[in-house]
Amino acid sequence: MREIALVGNPNSGKTSLFNLVTGSNQRVGNWPGVTVDRKEGFWKEDKELKIQDLPGIYSLSPYTPEEIIARDYLLARQADAILNIVDGTNLTRNLYLTTQLLETGIPVVIGLNMMDLAEKNGQQINADKLAYALNTPVVPMSALKNRGVSKALKEANQVAYHEDAYPVYSDRLEAALGEIATILGQTVAERQARWYAIKLFERDIRVSQELSLSQFQTKEIEEIIAITEKIFDEDSESILINERYSFIEGVVKLCYSEEADIKATLSDRIDRIVTNRILALPIFAGVMWLVYYLAIQTVGAMGTDWVNEVLFGDWVPNYLAAGLEAVNVAPWLQNLILDGIVAGVGAVLGFVPQLLVLFFCLSILEDCGYMSRIAFVMDRIFRKFGLSGKSFIPMLVATGCGIPGVMASRTIENEKDRRMTVMLTTFMPCSAKLPIIALIAGAFFPTSSWVAPSAYFIGMTAIVLSGIALKKTRLFAGDPAPFIMELPAYHLPIFKNVLRQTFDRGWSFVKKAGTIIFVSSILIWFMMTYNFQLQEVAEGDSILASLGRVIAPIFAPLGFGNWQAAVATISGLIAKENVLGTFGILFRNISEVSENGQEVWGALQAAYTPVAAYAFLVFNLLCAPCFAAIGAIRREMGDFKWTMIAVGYQTGLAYIVSLIIYQYGHIIFEGGSFNLMTIVATGLFLAMLYLIFRKERKVPQAIMNMEDIIVGSEK
Ligand code: GDP
Repeated sequence: MREIALVGNPNSGKTSLFNLVTGSNQRVGNWPGVTVDRKEGFWKEDKELKIQDLPGIYSLSPYTPEEIIARDYLLARQADAILNIVDGTNLTRNLYLTTQLLETGIPVVIGLNMMDLAEKNGQQINADKLAYALNTPVVPMSALKNRGVSKALKEANQVAYHEDAYPVYSDRLEAALGEIATILGQTVAERQARWYAIKLFERDIRVSQELSLSQFQTKEIEEIIAITEKIFDEDSESILINERYSFIEGVVKLCYSEEADIKATLSDRIDRIVTNRILALPIFAGVMWLVYYLAIQTVGAMGTDWVNEVLFGDWVPNYLAAGLEAVNVAPWLQNLILDGIVAGVGAVLGFVPQLLVLFFCLSILEDCGYMSRIAFVMDRIFRKFGLSGKSFIPMLVATGCGIPGVMASRTIENEKDRRMTVMLTTFMPCSAKLPIIALIAGAFFPTSSWVAPSAYFIGMTAIVLSGIALKKTRLFAGDPAPFIMELPAYHLPIFKNVLRQTFDRGWSFVKKAGTIIFVSSILIWFMMTYNFQLQEVAEGDSILASLGRVIAPIFAPLGFGNWQAAVATISGLIAKENVLGTFGILFRNISEVSENGQEVWGALQAAYTPVAAYAFLVFNLLCAPCFAAIGAIRREMGDFKWTMIAVGYQTGLAYIVSLIIYQYGHIIFEGGSFNLMTIVATGLFLAMLYLIFRKERKVPQAIMNMEDIIVGSEK
């Protein structure tokens, strides 16, 4: 009578195999002292073979009841052989247990299960090479399809003990294990020397109690372990875990391949360049520059020029004016339609061509797999500063619209990281902010291609630097959540997907122009045409101007302290496109002499210096997002206080950064003079540097955990 033990990870298919080969010859009981099932049976084909089903386990360490049962049973050496059921679709994880089974000194046969599934997945395992690498028999099988099962049992019925059938680790570790085995000498049987040497090295308490070593032996072994730990700079248990995995890595490399490999290797080669530690960011910067160059500066700009100059600069206003005149529409209504709606909505719609090109380029980058690489690269960078790469996904989403961006932060488990991400995500230029960027770039910097992409990088820099500074405060301290993501293989973008995505995004922009911007335009036109007594007045005496003048002084230190810019900024809270719409209405009216669509540009150039315009751009990029996005922040934050913190932080940072840009830019490029505000800007700049670079205050873990609980319970 021979006895074999079935050992394997949970879900490797042990039960399926056991039921298949024993049929009705089973006995189910309990292991002594625990409620874990004990199942025994006899092989249908040979009643002389007893099969012992052991609980599913991941390792032979003595931590769970299942592990202890399996281990005690194996060490009691009732089994003549082990049939190790390995899930072939999960080779690396399953082989971890195998390395330990091979060390018990009991002969092992590998039943390489789930081969039907592996084949379907395109995973190829060369069983001969696996047998060679593990120095033990391997039988491919499928318990589900009853393939190779009898062969596996036959093999297990015959297999005999042979020396060296165990994994060999690195020289340094082997040297230590060899010395421990020598110290043990005759204390243990030769077949078990490997097992005991390893367990003693791991400082396994059950083993040292069981062996009752002499004081001398214990001391010598402890010295060997201590020296090895010093060499490896790790504790002994971790050393072994690492060694096991690198052994497995070698085995898997030898015998495992995937059909997708050919594709994957090309992807790998591309990845070696685009995710390269040094090149990744410059490449990304280059790619984004190209995208913005195409969209804002060249191809898209040609479309926008046409729309602005011909469509909304000539055709629509002229034909519409003639039409309205012909049917005798009241002058005020003509005024509303032409100077209000057409000017406002038209200014926004003018950017549709640029946006379409931009959306098209971004869709291609997303569809082909490049953007997920960027998330991976950002994770590496973010992690250095204690931020999680998970935060990057919401930011990527926010380049379309801040609202889904804020909502995408839900995937972040760590509460503090999540709050921080919600707070920072809207720094990314969303599609509604792009027209502002395009307008400023076009009107003030027509020859330089860096202005448009710089908005993107300012947004990202604001996020990263804010993250670093905030992480050092108590509100957000803590380790980042681990971020694991699969990088899909690159593929050629699917044209249909790209077009669909471009169209969807473009359409939602147009829809917004027809609704929110339409209504806002009417409102702004009204406030610009009338005074508080509802008398039609010159623009400078209108409701809008009066309100704007109250707010304008706040923006004076940023260079754009006239009432028009103040009004545009405030109207941007309703929707960022309004900033454009407002300018369209306000400045079109001023220069009625000019006929073409560039009149707004000319009026803007007359009103602001380039540095002031850039400061305006940066302020609108970073300040509080539109009301709809603030609503999303409120929902995700869960309370009013946090919403206020977020909006306050965004607006405050926007103000400080614009102040610094204008104060210094004005002096450097426009011959401005040093003044009190420059000193304030300098002070704020130094304070920012301090917050970013100061040494992190280590908050004791216990306190942090407590804060987690407190923060968590607020919800
Ligand atoms: P145990 O936890 O190791 O006892 O695993 P089970 O025998 O309960 O199997 C886990 C799951 O894997 C079940 O759904 C089985 O039907 C399935 N399974 C077992 N062996 C195979 C196999 O060779 N091929 C496939 N495709 N599925 C299998």
